[in-house]
Amino acid sequence: MSQSENLRIDRIQKGTVIDHIDAGYALTILNLTGLDESPNLMTIGVNVSSQKYGKKDIVKIENVFLNEIQMQQISILSPNATISLIEDFNVIEKKKVKMPSIIKKLIVCETKTCVSNSQKEPIDTEFLVLEEKPLKIRCAYCDRIYKLDEIKFKSRRKKGSKKVKQKISL
Ligand SMILES: [Zn+2]
Repeated sequence: MSQSENLRIDRIQKGTVIDHIDAGYALTILNLTGLDESPNLMTIGVNVSSQKYGKKDIVKIENVFLNEIQMQQISILSPNATISLIEDFNVIEKKKVKMPSIIKKLIVCETKTCVSNSQKEPIDTEFLVLEEKPLKIRCAYCDRIYKLDEIKFKSRRKKGSKKVKQKISL
């Protein structure tokens, strides 16, 4: 990445930079990971020009570090994404997201008769990753194959649960 690209979006003091998001996926990622509910300062760049990929999205969030599930969700939507952890304006760790070979729990199988949809004993969904890009996954139980635009993610919001807002004092 060239220096000028780095400077296009303001640097953050502490937090996370999600870079090399597939162009157009930043908002989907924020919604899926729940980061869109974060009260922290967030900078979102959509269709930023990138030497490597033509166009990309980039997200910077202050005071937030991602958990393992969020990293997996990002890897499914943007396998080339990189995650940088920032402290005192410096990158202290930079890693590429890694898509698991089996995606557990995060995706719903839409086959009604699939055992993962059993009402009696619901079991966690499991999808085998056949190809990362373009994404192709197969339900481990009914063998149905899904492409990225056919995937239905499990909703993170439980019915009836209240949204808990955390107060952050700086
Ligand atoms: Zn299935």
